[in-house]
Amino acid sequence: MYPLKFILAKSDSFSKKEFWLMRLLYFLLCCFVFSHLAKAELVHTVQKNETLSAIASKYGVSANSIQAFNGISNPNLLYVGKKLKIPSGATSEIPYTVKKGDSLGSIASRFGVKLSDVCSRNGISSPNLIKVGQKIIIPVKGAIKPKSSLLPQSLIKTLSSIKPHAGKWKKIIIHHSATPVDDAMNMHRVHKARGMKNGLAYHFVISNGSRKAYDGEVFIGTRWKGQLDGGHVKKLSWNQTCIGICLIGNFELKPPSTKQLNTLEGLCKYLMNRCRIPKSQVTTHKLLHPGHTACPGKFLSLPSFVRRLNP
Ligand SMILES: [Zn+2]
Repeated sequence: MYPLKFILAKSDSFSKKEFWLMRLLYFLLCCFVFSHLAKAELVHTVQKNETLSAIASKYGVSANSIQAFNGISNPNLLYVGKKLKIPSGATSEIPYTVKKGDSLGSIASRFGVKLSDVCSRNGISSPNLIKVGQKIIIPVKGAIKPKSSLLPQSLIKTLSSIKPHAGKWKKIIIHHSATPVDDAMNMHRVHKARGMKNGLAYHFVISNGSRKAYDGEVFIGTRWKGQLDGGHVKKLSWNQTCIGICLIGNFELKPPSTKQLNTLEGLCKYLMNRCRIPKSQVTTHKLLHPGHTACPGKFLSLPSFVRRLNP
């Protein structure tokens, strides 16, 4: 901003140096104020066992946008106490520095914006000619919504408040209730009457809209809230490591509802992410225990469901 010779010129009088010093102090003050203004944006401090997608759900933004906004290359390397800037609803332009391996197309898809919008905002005519270190602006329209909102925010909030026991859960087992009309509280009473100390054998129940619950509504059992073993499979070792999700309905007679499957997808994705369970470990009762049961019925196809779990 100021010519260097101005500082170095030996003939400068003291008052000129003083004037320069004052300008410098003023400049530093401005920097200080602006850096603090910038800090007024939403910042989240990573807590123990938090994943990027859980944090993203909390703020109603996409995990990708937080990742890109903070220049995180590996979301698995988040550490407790790390401060993350959260892109706010008001954010319409995100500054981004091109990194090694980036293409303009990959940057655009990471932020969920059109490549053509990035090009026109930055006056780029040849998208292939970007270089590492180049600073560009990502034009984001309004708040960045999560790509899928299969679960209601209130449910995600409740789920986020329950801390899964580290390393305990290895598989997710899908069941059906085999009853066309039912609800979680009734199942809880039935299981209790059968002598199960903790009642409801499953960690989660997904309603089909019968009785008071709505179609696709998730009931979080006390076994999940308290991180207790399930009671939904035969072996103790399975119950100690398998999360049980029961969909109400008899899927030997008819398939689950679309809403139930959407919720199941959202819940499985959430649990897979939170408990680090790979999709190969999402299975059904009958596949876990062949020849023992038909649960969850011939109308619930595991292969086609598991295809939905692709990131
Ligand atoms: Zn079952």
